[in-house]
Amino acid sequence: MAVTVLIVEDEEKIGRFLELELLHEGYEVMKAVNGREGLEKAQSGKADLVVLDVMLPELNGFEVLRRLRKNSDIPVIMLTARDEVMDKVAGLDGGADDYMTKPFAIEELLARIRLVLKKRGGGASIASRDKNQLSVGKLCMDVQRYEVSYDGEQVELTHREFELLKVLLENKNIVISRDTLLEKVCGYDYMGETNIIDVYVRYLRSKLDDVYQVKIIQTVRGVGYCIKDEN
Ligand code: CA
Repeated sequence: MAVTVLIVEDEEKIGRFLELELLHEGYEVMKAVNGREGLEKAQSGKADLVVLDVMLPELNGFEVLRRLRKNSDIPVIMLTARDEVMDKVAGLDGGADDYMTKPFAIEELLARIRLVLKKRGGGASIASRDKNQLSVGKLCMDVQRYEVSYDGEQVELTHREFELLKVLLENKNIVISRDTLLEKVCGYDYMGETNIIDVYVRYLRSKLDDVYQVKIIQTVRGVGYCIKDEN
C-alpha cells in the first residue's frame, strides 16, 4: 500500500515541485494551499505524513500543528524560511517530527521523510496501522489482547496501570494533565485526588523504566505526564 504525503504549501511552484518529486518516489500525494485546508486534510486520516509550510494564509503552520496535535500524532515535517531559528525550536516543541529550512535540496527532504516514516513504525504500514497496537520505542501494547511487552518481553500490569499507559500512548507527544488522566483512568469518583495518578506513574516506572533502564513517561512539572517518541 502506498504512503500518502500531504503537502501544505501556498506557493504553487514549490507545491507542484514537491508533488512531482514525491509521485516520482512512489508516494501518493494530497495537497492543500492554506492552513485551514491543510488542517482538515491532515485530520481526515487519509494522509500518513504532512509536509507543512510555516508561512501560510488563514492559519500559519504552527497553528495548524498546534490544533492537529490535539487529536493526531501524524508525522509532520515543517518547512521554515532560512534563519528562522526560533521557528525551528517552536516547531519541534510543538510536536513536529522534523523541519527543513528553505531552500532545501529535495534529496534531503526525501531522506527525512523516509527517516520519519521509519521512526514512526515502518512506512507503508502506517496507513493501515492497527488501532489496537500502540507503541513507543521497544514498548508495545496490544489493546485487544490486553498485553504489554518491552523488547518482546511480557510486562505484567494491573488494570489501572494498563489504562494509564494506554491513555498516554494514545496521546503520544501530548502532555496530559493529571486531572484528565484521573478522569480517564479512575473515573469521576476520584475527582481532585490527582496524586493517585502520581502513584500509578510510580508503579509503571518501577515496572518499565527501572527494569529496562529507560525513561518512558516524562513528567511535565506542574502540568502532567507525557510519552514522547524517541529522537
Ligand atoms: Ca508559504
